[in-house]
Amino acid sequence: MTVKKLPPGLHLDTLAVRTGIEPSQYGENSETMYLTSSFIQPDAATAARRFAQEEEGYMYTRVGNPTVTSMEVRLAALEGTEAAIATSSGMAAILLLGMGLLRAGDHVVCSQSVFGSTIRLFSGEFAKFGIETTYVSQTDVSAWAAAIRPNTKLLFAETPTNPLTDVCDIQALADVAHSAGAKLAVDNCFCSPSLQQPTRFGADYVIHSGTKYLDGQGRVVAGAICCTQKEVDDIFLPITRTAGMVLSPFNAWVVLKGMETLSIRMKAQCATALELATWLQNQPQVTRVFYPGLPSHPQHALAMRQQSGLGGPVVSFEVRHKDAASGRANAFHVIDSTQVCSITTNLGDTKTTICHPASTSHARITEAQRSAAGIGQGLIRVAVGLEHIEDLKADIARGLDSLKVSA
Ligand SMILES: *Cc1c(COP(=O)(O)O)cnc(C)c1O
Repeated sequence: MTVKKLPPGLHLDTLAVRTGIEPSQYGENSETMYLTSSFIQPDAATAARRFAQEEEGYMYTRVGNPTVTSMEVRLAALEGTEAAIATSSGMAAILLLGMGLLRAGDHVVCSQSVFGSTIRLFSGEFAKFGIETTYVSQTDVSAWAAAIRPNTKLLFAETPTNPLTDVCDIQALADVAHSAGAKLAVDNCFCSPSLQQPTRFGADYVIHSGTKYLDGQGRVVAGAICCTQKEVDDIFLPITRTAGMVLSPFNAWVVLKGMETLSIRMKAQCATALELATWLQNQPQVTRVFYPGLPSHPQHALAMRQQSGLGGPVVSFEVRHKDAASGRANAFHVIDSTQVCSITTNLGDTKTTICHPASTSHARITEAQRSAAGIGQGLIRVAVGLEHIEDLKADIARGLDSLKVSA
């Protein structure tokens, strides 16, 4: 396997279609999918050297696969990191991060607004192995600093958050981590490297669910950690080749091809999301809109600085209501009145998805925890796809216009 040689200084859009490994002897222009579990060794002596890790070469797909390598090389190029290591899902990437960096007795500081399964992984699974996690407010840097202990090894953030789009200051959190001798990992699912490259702001690790915008078409589950080559070689690869949370070559190929259109999709989806958010702000049945691209967003300036001037593809809004019951009824009415949007909690698809976080993604926490987090029964999240803006407005207006409001 040789990585394709490219001239220096290429732009992200070019890297997205051009990086990867060299084609096979047939010179295919579209990347090959190497759908194989094992690789024939030229002779017994070569096999011995490869198993002894004295010589490069593929042996078995749990240890390495050229399609997976191509996907890793391309993702690292987009994130601006030296290397990346692919995993079977986004959650497997966070599991791998924890297995690589944490030991019994270590402490983690994590935003309280991260993806629900991330909280369950830290609090449910890592806790079994003697790792303790403190959750802090996403946007309060002093709370992160105050939570640091002598045994803190990792700070974990996700920005913007789901569904309320709170934005944290990556550089400020990196400074807190580094002055404590800890590392900062940022889950970059929502922005993707097309908008935001967390290592440029000092993050040490970038986490991806390739399931979202990298694939971009809702086809596969995939994940990755972006970091240095030395960390891949010394920390993460020894774990994946033994523990086996590797990405299948088929899924790697889908994500590899998905990344080719990442930038163009993200720009289009962000433009539509901004238009939708602006329109929602002017709807009488909408009481609040959460979108980093709106000047009214509390971290608007920071988001514009960190996210290449774009607000991202996810918009949340609250429908007018009197109490929790009417909030839920009204939100359900708006969701059920759509004829174009898909009712699903997934995001990162070309198809716009709409969901009610309080009863789906955030249903497993208590009503008190939900209200503390600001996720009311009237809240709706829209992950904007590639449909025409007028069709999306009409789809959401259908339910809003027929809402009966007695408040
Ligand atoms: C979906 C998601 C994950 C988990 O990714 P999977 O590929 O579903 O395992 C992690 N973080 C964020 C922000 C997500 O949206």
